[in-house]
Amino acid sequence: MTDEADTKKVRHVLGISGGKDSSALAVYMRDRVPEMEYFFCDTGAELPETYEYLNRLEAALGKSIVRLNADRDFDHWMEVYQGTLPSPQMRWCTKNLKIKPLEDWVGDDKVISYVAIRADENRLGYVSTKPNIEAVFPFREDGIDKDGVMRILEEAGIGLPGYYEWRTRSGCYFCFFQRKHEWVGLKERHPDLFDRAVEYEEKVRYRHTAMKGRNYTWSQGESLPELIERKEEIEAKHRAALERAAKRIKPNRPLLEVLSDALDSDDDEAGCSVCHL
Ligand code: SF4
Repeated sequence: MTDEADTKKVRHVLGISGGKDSSALAVYMRDRVPEMEYFFCDTGAELPETYEYLNRLEAALGKSIVRLNADRDFDHWMEVYQGTLPSPQMRWCTKNLKIKPLEDWVGDDKVISYVAIRADENRLGYVSTKPNIEAVFPFREDGIDKDGVMRILEEAGIGLPGYYEWRTRSGCYFCFFQRKHEWVGLKERHPDLFDRAVEYEEKVRYRHTAMKGRNYTWSQGESLPELIERKEEIEAKHRAALERAAKRIKPNRPLLEVLSDALDSDDDEAGCSVCHL
């Protein structure tokens, strides 16, 4: 087989998380790699704003984004993991609902996977352990930072996903990486989804109280109903953090920067490098 034939077989794929960085990378690569295959791993627990944003992005790309659904849903995997909620230490959700569907989709094809880690970020992107998948980081290589991302989205006319009004990370409505104030935002914007997240907690608590006397919660140190009881306190803390951020950040910076800074003061863990791009 010739080298040329080998080259032809290489697939170029770009995962969209529903967040700003991966969306900007999709736009950035649109004309650079016309054969790019865009995909979105749907956990079945995405926010409605994410689907709306994907539609906007598809219009800007002039191409469909392939939706990859895991064979087994979140509830199945929760049973497999003995009824425990995923957490930063036990991130079985990312592995089974985001990474595995990608690996199944590409199979043994030779693949270059474009990952949207920015030049100003200090975190590792997911690099598949499968030898046929090679990860590349165009933003890092081309020095594109957060301002660059915002410019790309603005020029493409798609802006930011609607959830950025109250939450800065893409992903599942119940994501355990949410900061306290983002949970309050979920309760206000999507009370039905908040209630479903509470149901998961209760199911897990009931099971583990019966089995081992242990509690599991989405948010560290308290259940969601307990967190909501502290809503006023959380909101006051968030307002104070916003004021501090507004003073710290140079004038004329995007509001998103102020919000991110304020939320990071609650918890600045970098989030998931697969789901939050
Ligand atoms: S968004 Fe959060 S809960 Fe959903 S798969 Fe990713 S890490 Fe897990």
